[in-house]
Amino acid sequence: MNIREQREQHERETLSPIATKVSKGRKTPTKKCTLRTEFQKDRDRITHSKAFRRLMHKTQVFISPEGDHYRTRLTHTLEVAQISRTIARALRLNEDLTEAIALGHDLGHTPFGHTGEDALDQLLPDGFRHNEQSVRVVEVLEKEGRGLNLTFEVIDGILNHRTVCKPATPEGSVVQISDKIAYMNHDVDDAMRAKILSSNDLPPFVKKLGSNPSERIDFLVKNLIKNSLNTPEITLSSDVTEIMHEFRIFLRESVYSNQLVHQKERLKISKMLQLIFHHYVAYPEKLPEEYRTAENKTQTIADYLAGMTDRFAMKQFNDIFMPSAWEAQ
Ligand code: MG
Repeated sequence: MNIREQREQHERETLSPIATKVSKGRKTPTKKCTLRTEFQKDRDRITHSKAFRRLMHKTQVFISPEGDHYRTRLTHTLEVAQISRTIARALRLNEDLTEAIALGHDLGHTPFGHTGEDALDQLLPDGFRHNEQSVRVVEVLEKEGRGLNLTFEVIDGILNHRTVCKPATPEGSVVQISDKIAYMNHDVDDAMRAKILSSNDLPPFVKKLGSNPSERIDFLVKNLIKNSLNTPEITLSSDVTEIMHEFRIFLRESVYSNQLVHQKERLKISKMLQLIFHHYVAYPEKLPEEYRTAENKTQTIADYLAGMTDRFAMKQFNDIFMPSAWEAQ
């Protein structure tokens, strides 16, 4: 028995009855590894992808922040992975599957956070949703159009991590809730760092969860574990689910749509992405070669734009629209 087979046997013997033990497979079947399970392989494929590295320079909430301590899409992803793994281990779910879904869930996020997502949503005839784009990244865009050929379970978890969706595995549900636990708490923390909020602004229902992000994450993780032990459903208690709902509304009103932070920059970002988009609609031959092959040009341009980091989008704008000073040859 090789190391991978021993690992799989250990998982069959020790994981919870509801845990995902064996993958249903991949679109293109591949040879099994002697060391790693299928889900370990997926986690590694995601970590080594180009889209994963680009998360480092994509906005979470605060755009190109001056300070070095604000979250980026990459640090958000790592926080989600850490919270998800703690929960998966406590519930005896498949930790590797959980980690792979968490690391891949935001791969399709646009530059400039939700401002960028809204801009693309308005530009495309069928709209734009980052979870669907994450699936395009892993199925089509990575590896020069071949995709990462991930397992069905990881793709399902990535596609269904948004609140309105229903993941097919309990590991997918863990990531869906951990994503919210992570961003609600770190977005409050960053908003305080940016002096958009002070602790006096937090409504009493947020303080019920704890007096700082660390206490609140601990409370939510423990609540989720206690509520989901020995049950087939992964869920927070109903009163805490209600608090999380209120928490999201509070964040939307006080941080995400804060006039001070975003109004001026939002308009500029939308305009900039629109201009780049229409430039490539008019001159598709100027797209990089790897983006020139697909039949649906609008989709291709959206793929290119969604893949950009904040700084690359700004450089593109400069290169296309800003005149450069004369330099003698
Ligand atoms: Mg996320």
